Amino acid sequence: MFLRELKEPVSRIRGAGPETAALLSRLGIVTAADLLCHYPRDWEDRSRPVPLSQFVKAQVCTTVTVIAHEWIGFGRMRTLKVRVEDESAQAVLVCWNRPFLEKQLALGKRCRLWGRFQYKYGEIQSSSFDISAVSAEEQGILPVYPLSAGLSQTVLRRLVSRALDTWGSSIEEELPRFIIEKEGLLPRPLALRGIHFPATMEELDQAKRTLIYGELFYLEILVGRRAMERRNVRRGAVPRAAGPEPSLSPLQGRLLERLPFSLTAGQREAVAEINRDMAGPFPMARLLQGDVGSGKTLVSFLAALAAVDGMGGLPPGQAAIMAPTELLARQHAENAARLLEPLGLRLSFLTGNLKAAGRKELLKALAQGEIDMVLGTHALFSQDVNYANLRLVVVDEQHRFGVIQRSLIMAKGHSSAGAQGTPDLLMMSATPIPRTLALTVFGDLDVSVIRDLPPGRKPIRTHLARQSNEGRVYDFVGKELAAGRQAYFVYPLIEAAGSRTADLKDAQSMAARLAEEVFPRYPVALVHSRINEEEKQEIMEKFRRGEIRILAATSVVEVGVDVANASCMVVEHAERFGLSALHQLRGRVGRGPEQSYCFLVYSDELTEDGKTRLKVMLEHSDGFVIAEEDLKLRGPGQIAGLEQSGYLSLGLADPVRDAEALARIRQEAFAILEKDPALLSPENRLIAEVLEKASPFGTLGL
Ligand code: ADP
Ligand code: MG
Repeated sequence: MFLRELKEPVSRIRGAGPETAALLSRLGIVTAADLLCHYPRDWEDRSRPVPLSQFVKAQVCTTVTVIAHEWIGFGRMRTLKVRVEDESAQAVLVCWNRPFLEKQLALGKRCRLWGRFQYKYGEIQSSSFDISAVSAEEQGILPVYPLSAGLSQTVLRRLVSRALDTWGSSIEEELPRFIIEKEGLLPRPLALRGIHFPATMEELDQAKRTLIYGELFYLEILVGRRAMERRNVRRGAVPRAAGPEPSLSPLQGRLLERLPFSLTAGQREAVAEINRDMAGPFPMARLLQGDVGSGKTLVSFLAALAAVDGMGGLPPGQAAIMAPTELLARQHAENAARLLEPLGLRLSFLTGNLKAAGRKELLKALAQGEIDMVLGTHALFSQDVNYANLRLVVVDEQHRFGVIQRSLIMAKGHSSAGAQGTPDLLMMSATPIPRTLALTVFGDLDVSVIRDLPPGRKPIRTHLARQSNEGRVYDFVGKELAAGRQAYFVYPLIEAAGSRTADLKDAQSMAARLAEEVFPRYPVALVHSRINEEEKQEIMEKFRRGEIRILAATSVVEVGVDVANASCMVVEHAERFGLSALHQLRGRVGRGPEQSYCFLVYSDELTEDGKTRLKVMLEHSDGFVIAEEDLKLRGPGQIAGLEQSGYLSLGLADPVRDAEALARIRQEAFAILEKDPALLSPENRLIAEVLEKASPFGTLGL
């Protein structure tokens, strides 16, 4: 039986009554497998005691006697302080929200104490400690678990230990035996015991290494299998040209001739890679990464032209370009109209807001192949939309889309009438995915990166300003407006939301204040997600034409909006925005020839976290560096798009910290898949289960 198949409820464990089971379920522990996978957050090495007097050097681990109870504060804030001593010193345990410890830690009682201490108010203090009665069974290295109220380390240790005794030895191996031997890993049952109750610190290390290996191995099997299956999806019957590098398609050549500028080196490279894919024997699945303003839209248009021309001996097909918001989709549609209609392309625009009559006609034209290229929101893939011959799908700002869409899109390609098989897929993202993560999670995609920006852009100057200095920021923006420029002001809220957030500025009130008090000479408008599409569109159009000079907004302007004359981005309460949002917002300016500025205005009560983020913004402009910093600050689970991917259910492994191991594991997993999947037996049952989720164009990361 594999660990995950151990579905016995925890209540089957002796000593886990209904009350304990309820407490456990609050930690997400329902089955015995859940319990065994509730890994310790730390380990307490009792074989090496650290007396209280050594608190500066290390975590204290000692035996103490309770010598006094004291209470501080009043009412709900009333807090218990327990004074204890060992042979070296006295210390105080501050028991926030744990008044019940008064009974447990009776005067004179001898206890094992463990935790980090600080010197505060003339005392050695700790508020995060573990304490339990001295008992014979708790010796050696003990696990310290994440707890919830009402559960104690002692109870959890006892339950885990019993679960290990009952089921531990019948847990089946998950890794191929030759890998265990080659890598010096532990057999699964020993690894499981070793992570909870290691005999030595060395054993603990080995157990960790084993479990991390297992988690990453299956992640990479999944990724590798998906990449392979993609290569197995041959296109339709038409043989593809193999041979020299495909040159530009005729339409691509004509577009480039008409452009007033030439492609950047990064754009040129990306187009070459895309052309190679689109002329190749397998459907493209490519992620195009490029910082904000690097000109990804143009690259996607060139890809669309390859589809319409019929690259690589395939007949001409259709291209669909999908954007996450209507605002952005419309902007793309307008650009496409400007650049591509003169080439004779038949374009259309499809969003959820399209009126019934127009929609019906459009759908008919699409299904009959009278449209070459369609731009829109996710409405492009609604049930009733059919394509005559969908050849290319571009997903802009792919991290903005949820999990399901990728497979939906692919299904659409298959069902299109003149289908040549799976359409080519180009995903674009300005939230750079750090290399380490790209390898793990987007490992089944090919990646193109545009590293350069179009020439002539001046680096944006970023300034931090305290809220009390907002006047100086407004003055500065005033001068830019007087020089003919435009400005964005961004707020964390749409409107004032009652007293709790009274000291937070909101877009609505600030739009009024900017218009009436601060910049009465300039037209101001407000956009946010609750303004209806038609109005939003009108406002954006006026802003683009310069009729509106100041846009007060929420982070709806975050993605994609491109107005070259805007030179100021003011983000108020900037500490409330995440790094990737701030980077995107800043990327809204610096798109024209003029010097641009970004002001990050922060409130007075700034958390450490907020401070760090603002500092990153001040010091870095490269989106890739910012993404790496973001990853360091937040951990991989939080990176845009990954949290919903569902596959990153890593318990111990951390693809960033374990990057080196990951690279090796990846090779190992891929080699097995390629050479001989049978090597995985007798673990095939598990592999099959993992692979079941891995359809060739599954949902990983999108
Ligand atoms: P993003 O990569 O953020 O989506 P966009 O595609 O919106 O960037 O491009 C930003 C701006 O740069 C657009 O106004 C576009 O016309 C312009 N642009 C794109 N490629 C070039 C180039 N090679 N030279 C000059 N300007 C370019
Ligand atoms: Mg863009």
